[in-house]
Amino acid sequence: MENQDRDSGDIIPVVIIGNGPSGICLSYLLSGHTPYVSQDAAHPNPLLQHKLREQPDLSLLEQDLEYLCEGLEGRSSNPVAVLFDSLLLPDSDFGLEHSSPLIWRYEPERAIPHLVLGRGPPGGAWHAMEGSMLTLSLANWMELPGLKLKDWLREKRRNVRNDRATPAEIALYYQHYVSQKSLEQNFACGTTVTEVTRVHGDGDEPCWRVTGVQRQEVPFSILARNVVLATGTHDIPARLRVDGESLPFVCHSFWELEAAISRGELDELSEPVLVVGAGLTAADAVLATRHLSAPVYHAFRRSVTDPGLIFNQLPKLLYPEYHKVHQMMTQQQYGSPTSSSSSSSYPNYLSFPKHRVVKFLPNKKCILESDLGQKTAIQVSKALVLIGSHPNLSFLPDHGRSLGVYRNEPISCRRNPIDVDPFTNRVTEAPGMYAMGPLVGENFVRFLKGGALAIVRKKKSGLH
Ligand SMILES: Cc1cc2nc3c(=O)[nH]c(=O)nc-3n(C[C@H](O)[C@H](O)[C@H](O)COP(=O)(O)OP(=O)(O)OC[C@H]3O[C@@H](n4cnc5c(N)ncnc54)[C@H](O)[C@@H]3O)c2cc1C
Repeated sequence: MENQDRDSGDIIPVVIIGNGPSGICLSYLLSGHTPYVSQDAAHPNPLLQHKLREQPDLSLLEQDLEYLCEGLEGRSSNPVAVLFDSLLLPDSDFGLEHSSPLIWRYEPERAIPHLVLGRGPPGGAWHAMEGSMLTLSLANWMELPGLKLKDWLREKRRNVRNDRATPAEIALYYQHYVSQKSLEQNFACGTTVTEVTRVHGDGDEPCWRVTGVQRQEVPFSILARNVVLATGTHDIPARLRVDGESLPFVCHSFWELEAAISRGELDELSEPVLVVGAGLTAADAVLATRHLSAPVYHAFRRSVTDPGLIFNQLPKLLYPEYHKVHQMMTQQQYGSPTSSSSSSSYPNYLSFPKHRVVKFLPNKKCILESDLGQKTAIQVSKALVLIGSHPNLSFLPDHGRSLGVYRNEPISCRRNPIDVDPFTNRVTEAPGMYAMGPLVGENFVRFLKGGALAIVRKKKSGLH
């Protein structure tokens, strides 16, 4: 930001709001790093290989992405995300390490001036999850183009035990990536955007005014031809919306548990900690609490066999810790005879499947209700509500509700992503605005990179 003339009226071609993996990956491509298909490489998909050979001299940015995407299938519903993933990590769904057919050339003449704004250091949500025990994906799924995560990890620690890395390591990798790829001059960290409005800049062409505060509350205001929303969806923890949820013993983030642990508030003599939720953050909280031998109650809405439960989707061999939590949830159910027997393999843990929280009381009691309507009161020391999170789009009119697939409803990664053109990531309802990452339903780093490719592509993107 120091280099930018903040109030001069100069229009910056692209301003990216959010400096997580989405913003970083887009900055890499906008800086002139250009993917080409290597002449000697062979892609394991013969059809794609054939198409890639047709115009070997064109960079991927000039190629017809729709044509290349045709017939490809993958774990994302976004075609460009599947294409880019399959070019960066061919066949990785099968655990194979096929080398990427892409080669990256630095072509500074292609660079588009841009600025990446973000609250904290580069790496986004990964800095906020540092307490979390494990990462979900195989480590190379989190890597960004042109810097092998495994090589960097190997340099950092002598023995890479398995293919995963901790969130703290991933956060450091992203920070390192920004400096290693010389992207720092495009990053203004410690910057919070508070308002984005459409204005008339020079001449008649409208542009965006991006307003906010820098470190120490210094206000700034810049003009941007294009704005990219890359703020992720982890800023506001979801709430149960029940009575007593604001009582001080009820927390909504993993770090509040960590803080209580570091203050020495929890041990085997404590009253149980209630963990609400059946996602991976809730599982992390169960593991962390059990690590201290503190008793745990675990309440969640679904049944343990529900196919939608994340534990039923993860390969057991790769995620033994989460498998263990799932085993606890299954074997130690409230009301089942095995859960109370002294021979139980998981003493001090009790699950409440198909239960919802009715209310929290000031005496640290919590009322749960089963799906059959049976109420149970439990005494706890702390309650951790870890049931997901929402984006904070307060800088947009009406919190960006007009931009969703379902107009006038809150934006969310799964239920109501921002409505974009799948091949350019242009926001349907706002010219000159783009969105990527979990905001458009792409929650995994592995697939959000496709959004960056779609935005910088030459043919249809409005960036140029
Ligand atoms: C517990 C947990 C575990 C996860 N595990 C995995 C995993 O194993 N593998 C995987 O691929 N994905 C995982 N994810 C998802 C992963 O976090 C996202 O895929 C990824 O971080 C999204 O990147 P992003 O850059 O779009 O957004 P984010 O990483 O969320 O970064 C956006 C940044 O923008 C900032 N920002 C927001 N609003 C503003 C504003 N107004 N002004 C300035 N800055 C702003 C935010 O503070 C944030 O730092 C996990 C998520 C969680 C919560």
